Amino acid sequence: MQEYTLLISEKEIQARIKELGEEICQRYKDEPLVALCVLKGSVLFFADIVRELPSATALDFVALSSYGNKTVSSGEITFSKGLSLSIEGKHVLVFEDIVDSGLTMTYLKKYLETQNPKSVAVCTLLDKPSRRKVDLVPEFIGFKIPDKFVVGYGLDFDEKYRPLRDVCVLEPWVYQD
Ligand code: 5GP
Repeated sequence: MQEYTLLISEKEIQARIKELGEEICQRYKDEPLVALCVLKGSVLFFADIVRELPSATALDFVALSSYGNKTVSSGEITFSKGLSLSIEGKHVLVFEDIVDSGLTMTYLKKYLETQNPKSVAVCTLLDKPSRRKVDLVPEFIGFKIPDKFVVGYGLDFDEKYRPLRDVCVLEPWVYQD
């Protein structure tokens, strides 16, 4: 039985990344920018989109752990890898794979603000606005998607499916007991 079905193809993702790259370049012009990748789910998105950004863009990585079951986060979040660059006085653009409840991005934005950046904004590949628990609107959004559990293009279930080139909906029988 097929474990997943196509939602957004590689071609659509790559076309949207070009557009997002242009929007981001327009917004920040030549101002110093730190592009921040939220590991691990954003890694493929990040690798593709930073190639659309100015060569002076600094890259940094954070990893966050959230406790909960495998398809719904609980909102209890901790850092498992913090910043390695100073963001003081700089624009920070966070690259996220998917914003769901919005709790992870709210937590990260609050933390980043304590480091005195010039600004903090969020660019998410995918947005599930119907699931939002807090008032968080990402500044840049690749695709709004329905309330389905998706995998591929960096997104996993149980560390599987990350290498898929497309974003796919995982069939519930794969993750439901
Ligand atoms: P939030 O804190 O916004 O509820 O959750 C964000 C995190 O939950 C994402 O970074 C991702 O790790 C996980 N997540 C939410 N929805 C999905 C989904 O449909 N598929 C996958 N693979 N992860 C998801």
